[in-house]
Amino acid sequence: MLTAIACAWILLVIGDFLSTFVYHIPEHVFGSLHLRTHHSYKKNFRHYAILTLHSQVLLDGILGALPYGIVAFFLWSYSPVGVISGLIFGQFHVWWRHTSILGWQTPPIVNLACQVLFITTPERHWLHHHKTSQGFGDIFTFFELPASAWLRFLRLLKVQRRWEGEKVKGVFFR
Ligand SMILES: [Zn+2]
Ligand SMILES: [Zn+2]
Repeated sequence: MLTAIACAWILLVIGDFLSTFVYHIPEHVFGSLHLRTHHSYKKNFRHYAILTLHSQVLLDGILGALPYGIVAFFLWSYSPVGVISGLIFGQFHVWWRHTSILGWQTPPIVNLACQVLFITTPERHWLHHHKTSQGFGDIFTFFELPASAWLRFLRLLKVQRRWEGEKVKGVFFR
């Protein structure tokens, strides 16, 4: 039982960590797929939480979920029950964190529990949909601080790369 709980927790923490730092934030800085699909305005609950059969929406969903699948693969031999429970919780959280668009408001007691457990509420995730430099950590709020540092670092890297690109162009096309 304890192994199952530990496996589920590790799956969610490492999955969210990899998804946030390896896909979500770099995609916000260097890509456009996630911004075009997940942050596009006036989409419905199905689009954000269940995915539509649009290939780009599906691709963004698959890339975001891939880290959980990889961690699940490695944890499977320790506790299949823990892995399955973690994946079910993760999927449930995807649906729940997008319920703001359906008018859901988190009750104060659930809000308090989420604060204690560092779990992202729908309100917090909705903030990320509107302010793309805030509210990182799809499931856990403790990724917020390192996420903003990583975001700033990658943005600097992008500026520096662009600047160096301009310099190279300047040398060749002078
Ligand atoms: Zn979202
Ligand atoms: Zn995002």
